[in-house]
Amino acid sequence: MTHSKLLNPSLRQNFLRHLQQLWPAIKGSLAEVRKPCIRPNCPACARGDKHAAFILSFTDKGRRRCMYVPTELVPELQQALRNGKALEELLYQLGPELLRQYRKQRDAPMSD
Ligand SMILES: [Zn+2]
Repeated sequence: MTHSKLLNPSLRQNFLRHLQQLWPAIKGSLAEVRKPCIRPNCPACARGDKHAAFILSFTDKGRRRCMYVPTELVPELQQALRNGKALEELLYQLGPELLRQYRKQRDAPMSD
């Protein structure tokens, strides 16, 4: 990045600080589903209630995929999803911000 025309130390530092606050960040969606278990004569399954489980859906090289999520990880994954959205918003803001900074520097009177 040393010769980048978009090099701006303070923007970079801002970005890195945001990044650190936004860890962990993921993309995807979390859904609660009900699935039957494999225990014979399970009362919950016999009632039709089955068992609550969480699934994380995401895209992997354009293909929709999903994985089961351990219940104890659900709150952290929900936060990670919120962080992912915030990170995406941050990236969208950075394009115009970089351009504005570039113009400001380009149009500033020479200081030397
Ligand atoms: Zn069951």
